[in-house]
Amino acid sequence: MRKIMLVAAVFLASFAPAVDAHAAQAATVVSPKRPLNVRAGSAVWTAQVRTLPHGAAVSIDCQVKGQLINQGSVRVTDQWDRLTDGSYVSDAWIRRPAAAIPACGPAAPVAPAAVAAAAAVTTTTGTVASGGTPLKARTAPVHTAPLIAALPNGTQLTLVCQQRGENIAGSQRVTPMWDRLPEGTYVSDAYVRRTATPPPCTAANQPVAAAAAPSTGGDWTSPLPGFRARPGFRTANNPNHIGVDIMSFTGTPIHAASAGTVLEVVCNIEAGHSCDQAGSASIGGCGWYVKLQHEGGISTLYCHMVRKALVQPGQKVKAGQVIGYVGSSGNSSAPHLHYEVHINAPPTGPQNAIDPLPFMRTHGAEIG
Ligand SMILES: [Zn+2]
Repeated sequence: MRKIMLVAAVFLASFAPAVDAHAAQAATVVSPKRPLNVRAGSAVWTAQVRTLPHGAAVSIDCQVKGQLINQGSVRVTDQWDRLTDGSYVSDAWIRRPAAAIPACGPAAPVAPAAVAAAAAVTTTTGTVASGGTPLKARTAPVHTAPLIAALPNGTQLTLVCQQRGENIAGSQRVTPMWDRLPEGTYVSDAYVRRTATPPPCTAANQPVAAAAAPSTGGDWTSPLPGFRARPGFRTANNPNHIGVDIMSFTGTPIHAASAGTVLEVVCNIEAGHSCDQAGSASIGGCGWYVKLQHEGGISTLYCHMVRKALVQPGQKVKAGQVIGYVGSSGNSSAPHLHYEVHINAPPTGPQNAIDPLPFMRTHGAEIG
């Protein structure tokens, strides 16, 4: 009963040697709404090395399996295309000839020079060096500011800029400087291993959206009124658990936590299993789930529904509207709702998940 986990698999593609003998395949970026992010690995939480405009021509070397992307313009896929300079784009946004692209060869632990060079131009990267305790990402450069995320030791970071704040003595240095992450949160530079110093924070590199602004507007409500979530966001035992679990009964109505638009209605489960029956702790995936997009770049995710949601992608929902029913599909050993909150979405991933308990409390909808 206690072993309920959402598997948030991290597919960090290693870099492969550029010795493949086959010819690169020409293809085209199909991303009419915004530029396509080119990344250092095969998931959206790996470093962004540059962007490509809609219609850009790309040259694909090979493919690797990575994060499933189901919002692409061309296809739903977990395949990522490695470009000839060693960087990656999701194949979900790529129009190309039907011919299969070969799988990338065995990985080698050497970053292609092109990626390293491209990354150096736009951003500084670093690694959390906190020893055992996760490094806290906060809304301001001081330890009393609200906690947004706890980043495990070894987490790769993109450092946008540095800002003066509280002096901290850490594993790497004693410093009053804090590093701002792309989500707009701050981590003490005292615990960040890095080779270059990020630029100072100025008006020019302000975040697009404030980090987890306490008031994003709109009304919030518990997704499962009458039932309590237990703390469980990124615990020591389960650092990849990026939501909280609310134990309940099969068939209990699940409510939209706030007004928004349905982004996804998906069965996410390991091949060979069905979302239409109870899962187990040994099956991967969050089962039947719904993802909603709300104002202010907030996304919420509702997993393990007993059957396909009542709502459709693109549909507008009101706060409190019933969107589906509690079940135990996917990686679940008892009926419950796995609930996630993401900031600066879309996209959503481990990099922008925040603890739903303080978030909901701040928004007047206590769930703990
Ligand atoms: Zn869970």
